[in-house]
Amino acid sequence: MILEGQPGHIDRIKQINAGAVYRLIDLYGPISRIDLSREARLAPASITKIVREMLEAHLVQETEFEEAGSRGRPAIGLILDTVAWHHLAVRIGKGEMTLALRDLSSRLVVEEQRPLPAEADEPLLSRIIAETDAFFIRHQHRLERLTAIAITLPGILDVKRGIVHRMPFYSINDMPLGPALEQRTGLPVYIHHDICAWTLAEALFGASRHTNDVIQVVIDHNVGAGVITGGQMLHGGSGTLIEIGHTQVDPYGQLCYCGNHGCLETVASTTAMLELAAQRMRTTPHSVLHQRPLTLDSLCDAALTGDALARDVIIDVGHSVGRIVAIMVNLFHPQKILIGSPLNRAMDILHPAIADCIRRQSLPDYSHSISVEPTHFHNTGTMPGAALVKDALYNGTLLVKLLQG
Ligand SMILES: [Zn+2]
Repeated sequence: MILEGQPGHIDRIKQINAGAVYRLIDLYGPISRIDLSREARLAPASITKIVREMLEAHLVQETEFEEAGSRGRPAIGLILDTVAWHHLAVRIGKGEMTLALRDLSSRLVVEEQRPLPAEADEPLLSRIIAETDAFFIRHQHRLERLTAIAITLPGILDVKRGIVHRMPFYSINDMPLGPALEQRTGLPVYIHHDICAWTLAEALFGASRHTNDVIQVVIDHNVGAGVITGGQMLHGGSGTLIEIGHTQVDPYGQLCYCGNHGCLETVASTTAMLELAAQRMRTTPHSVLHQRPLTLDSLCDAALTGDALARDVIIDVGHSVGRIVAIMVNLFHPQKILIGSPLNRAMDILHPAIADCIRRQSLPDYSHSISVEPTHFHNTGTMPGAALVKDALYNGTLLVKLLQG
């Protein structure tokens, strides 16, 4: 989020170069200044200047290392200096809030889950700020220099201004979460849709590392997608979600909270799926689903043991989602489809259903080598928040703030 307006041209170049150098040291450190100059395609004098500023700010440090193929004296290389810097990564979900203190290498220092009920006397914004304050107070003895707060949540948001327009589960209207927390803490605040940030986390630390074109589909309380195309996050800057959940799959279907009828989310969200299973159980007395309370886990387990009702419900969701993903495959020609869902417990049933649709409904040249795989992280975690901070260091926006002290 850039509140002070766009930086000037020279500042912008400095920001991009500093971010690129920081990223190279993170990926290849220990790395010598000469190698850094070659990899970054920057003059040695520019590298010397950028590195000196980073050394002075304690963002990088020097270390001796053996260069490959050299038998002489150890070389001086650069690595990141991450332990003395912390950030707060927050995830807000249905009825709860997860707060995690992480260092700049994203290593977890402490994480807590706090209840955040939908109904309460206090407005949601005051409750989030109070929980953040209390977290910092509880852990003040462990705090290093704080760099930023990153928040991921479901909903419709303005990423640049930090405004949350609407959320599922919570009744809010244009909540100024970013500005309010920035004012309260003096820290830069990064807010992003949870699925976008999760897609970024998989690309930076997880299942889609080193993959340039990926579609990540999330099937949970909400259904949505993130797209990495040519190594870049689609709509990354604007925070616009790829709203496959609100694509109509049944014109005569149920009313969706977005105002339209028969959206994918009304048939493929985990909530809709459990409702459908409960409905079908009434006419299927022999299903093993009657033996346990109906949950996503019990549904997946029943499907894995061959229960026809449970299998059908999961396969139907796979087909509904797969039909939309098949269209996306024709648009983006990805190498990989990642599925992030509690239904991955039954991925041996869900993933082939999605893959079948893709194979039958998109261009064979595009679909024949696509793999369908589970995500590495879960939606409820705080690594998506950590990914926002990493991204802000790599693109230089947060880095120049830290360099300026
Ligand atoms: Zn909808």
